[in-house]
Amino acid sequence: MRSTVDKALAGQDKLTLTYETFTGECSDEEIERLAGVGRQAKADVVIGVGGGKPLDTAKAVAHALKRPVVIVPTLASTDAPCSALSVIYTPEGAFKRYLLLPRNPDVVLVDSEVIANAPVRFLVSGMGDALSTWFEAQDCQESGAANMTGRSGTMTAFALARLCFDTLMADGVAAKRDCGKKTVTPALERVIEANTLLSGLGFESGGLSGAHAIHNGFTVLPETHSCWHGEKVALGTLSLLMLTKRPAELVSQVYDFCMAVGLPVCLADIGLAKATDEQLQAVARLACAPGETIHNIAGGVTPERVVAAIKAADAEGRRRK
Ligand SMILES: [Zn+2]
Repeated sequence: MRSTVDKALAGQDKLTLTYETFTGECSDEEIERLAGVGRQAKADVVIGVGGGKPLDTAKAVAHALKRPVVIVPTLASTDAPCSALSVIYTPEGAFKRYLLLPRNPDVVLVDSEVIANAPVRFLVSGMGDALSTWFEAQDCQESGAANMTGRSGTMTAFALARLCFDTLMADGVAAKRDCGKKTVTPALERVIEANTLLSGLGFESGGLSGAHAIHNGFTVLPETHSCWHGEKVALGTLSLLMLTKRPAELVSQVYDFCMAVGLPVCLADIGLAKATDEQLQAVARLACAPGETIHNIAGGVTPERVVAAIKAADAEGRRRK
């Protein structure tokens, strides 16, 4: 749906706004379509309003048009708003590639009242996305792998990633409760900051490893498409914990957190109650594709080890349930 309206700004000329509705996937086709709308409207600036995929699309469209971008998240459901990266999917919703952008968004504007009035599942999904940040950054720090900009992560990046994790552990349960009551509280504000800013800076400047790669693998199975990015990343995170050496108490803490806020802890929770070995092998193959961030894990990984880690994460989740 397209509409154009003129807005008079105080003491200035009129500003023409052209609205265009996002059609559901951050795909090359959708980016090209919206860039065409922008060219036709001779847009000076692109404004993205919505959740992760519309915002990633707005960033890519602004890049195609060589125009500044203003990001207005209406959900705290992913760490997409602040990053200089768009995740490109096929029109059918399978992961295709990362589009690395030369700059971060010019403005990111978050209204906590808007987030508090969105369904709570979005906030919880954002916590799932943010849950992976510290572990993935830590893997990159340990192996010396580059971050998403191709450089070594800084101390600041790793500290922000750790603060992201600590904030979720301290405030996640309260933030979910308060969001459910549509009430803005300090706990909710801190989790919005963790989901949006700390996770965004943490993953981009710290680096990604296995949780997002396994998420990308899950997207190959249509059964998972009704689950959201952060929900699949949460199970990717639990699988990563099984794939790498992490203290048992820490693993236990992460499972407790997921269960307390309602994030997936087993395959059935992401629509894969009847996953076959062949399906899990397909997930692992995609997770281990050349260039995937899972290869940032020290010592390397194989699809066989990834299948075993997903099965172990699933078994532990089912045991706890
Ligand atoms: Zn993510």
